[in-house]
Amino acid sequence: MQTPDFVYSARAARVVFGAGSLQHLEREVLNQRAERALILCTPGQREVAEALAQRLGSRAAAIFDRAVMHVPLELAIEARELAASLKADCAIAVGGGSTIGLGKAIALESGLPILAIPTTYAGSEMTPIFGLTEGGLKRTGTDLRVLPKTVIYDPELTLSLPAELSLTSGINALAHAAEGLYSRDANPIISLMAEEGIAALAQALPAIVADPQDLQARSRALYGAWLCGTVLGNVGMALHHKLCHTLGGSLNLPHAQTHTIVLPHVLAYNAGAVPEAMQRIAKALGHADAGTGVYELARTNGSPVALRDIGMQADQLDQMAELATANPYWNPRAIDYTSIRALLQDAFDGVPPRARV
Ligand code: NAD
Repeated sequence: MQTPDFVYSARAARVVFGAGSLQHLEREVLNQRAERALILCTPGQREVAEALAQRLGSRAAAIFDRAVMHVPLELAIEARELAASLKADCAIAVGGGSTIGLGKAIALESGLPILAIPTTYAGSEMTPIFGLTEGGLKRTGTDLRVLPKTVIYDPELTLSLPAELSLTSGINALAHAAEGLYSRDANPIISLMAEEGIAALAQALPAIVADPQDLQARSRALYGAWLCGTVLGNVGMALHHKLCHTLGGSLNLPHAQTHTIVLPHVLAYNAGAVPEAMQRIAKALGHADAGTGVYELARTNGSPVALRDIGMQADQLDQMAELATANPYWNPRAIDYTSIRALLQDAFDGVPPRARV
């Protein structure tokens, strides 16, 4: 067996993992030499943010509790101004990708170090990718300044994540690993993480749906999500992420559910072009076929499997296929309007994925 040539850049984030690891918050803030932390959260997670503020005492400068999906520019500006007026020297983002995204928007301008405490499986805490929405258009970019310096993964904080969001958020994570395995710049180290991440999530998600309070399954899922986030932060993505970005950005469809519904169809579409990666995905899922494995993981555990069931309209299919194929981008199999339109139709109807030649 031949070892391929590759480039691997280690990205230095400090990770503190384990049930109850939030108890190390003060130590981690001190490690950053921070005296005045600005705590970020969504309105729904205010209570968690308050508990952090209580732990930190005088080191908590304020709580900004208005994080929303896709980081609207006006909100980012407000949060940046608040951070500056408080002379904050650290941002603590407790929540999912939306809250961590707000922290990144602050860091992008000010270089403020971020301490991330993820409570979903989206994986943003492990990437230097940021997104900002202005006038309805989401712009994404990459900048190492937005990569959190420290990440505390405490599975206890994920116990409150509802079962369906846990499932779809977990499959969102799995999508990073799946596309990482056939990435143009894949490398053996990241592929190991991808396989391990998929396997951990495939084991943990059904157990979480059966019992959302199962702390062992929560730990396993968060461990898998960390690995999958690392994959997203290190190698390029392809058709699946492009499609979800187009659908989410243009139609405002829910992020994790969109990923869950689209992934099986993209895997079926790409299967013939990258058989070895598909075998690794299938093996990690414990299923004979990668696309069907993801579809069954979603369907049998109660996730929606049709875009029509999460707010998309049939008359939007043509436009989405046009947008997703308008600019060329790398995918292991060539894309064209007709095939992507057909793929989207299947995802819209929620039929099982089918191999396309
Ligand atoms: P989210 O952050 O929008 O959270 C969804 C909802 O769940 C929110 O209302 C939140 O308050 C709630 N929630 C979060 N954790 C909870 C918990 N433990 N218990 C109860 N409720 C909880 O959802 P998400 O899927 O994590 O993030 C989606 C956003 O992140 C999108 O905008 C996406 O583009 C972005 N994202 C960015 C990257 C990146 O690398 N930049 C990676 C993944 C996702």
